[in-house]
Amino acid sequence: MTEILSEATRQRDLIAKVGKSIFDRGLTAGSTGNISVRLSDGTLLMTPTNASLGDLDPGRLSLTDADGKYISGDKPTKEAFLHSCMYCERSADHAVVHLHSTHAVAVSVLADADPRDVLPPLTAYYVMRVGRLPLIPYFAPGDQDLALAVKAEAGKHHAVLLANHGPVVSGATLRDAQYATEELEETARLFLMLDGRPIRPLTAEQAEKLRRKG
Ligand code: ZN
Repeated sequence: MTEILSEATRQRDLIAKVGKSIFDRGLTAGSTGNISVRLSDGTLLMTPTNASLGDLDPGRLSLTDADGKYISGDKPTKEAFLHSCMYCERSADHAVVHLHSTHAVAVSVLADADPRDVLPPLTAYYVMRVGRLPLIPYFAPGDQDLALAVKAEAGKHHAVLLANHGPVVSGATLRDAQYATEELEETARLFLMLDGRPIRPLTAEQAEKLRRKG
């Protein structure tokens, strides 16, 4: 029990620290974005509804059971189901980050994006940290069909992009999920910077080699 408590305390502090870092660098604004961690007893620590990632109180984070049922703390984010969908399909992952990060959202509204893989393999780090990035079709806030659409891709991909909304990324640890989300955002920014110019992404063979390593 002591071990679980200290794990929870450590993860609460880390969520607040990562949230502040994300917010301070403008990677999500206002009260958008949410972070969760799955503890070793299966419970989920989650950022609360209407909370700014820049100003999280570690002691007031929401605690839910594995199915997202409320246990304690402030009420969880209304987007908690996005996190549950990832955990449900990805047993080795213990953290999920969801942001409304500007460049990734911009890419998610491009009319000619390939829904099977939204961004080309511009750099090796993108391929290693993010891999393929499927686009989940648009659903209105609160539409539970979004959960089904995310679930359908989460088994094969740890990063998905919600159309006209933003990325959802899981990782073995919170740092893994954070860094992958940031790599995704930076690659979306690069992609937009290069708009209109002929580009030379990694070849399919080069990308495949990196994926096999990862
Ligand atoms: Zn959202």
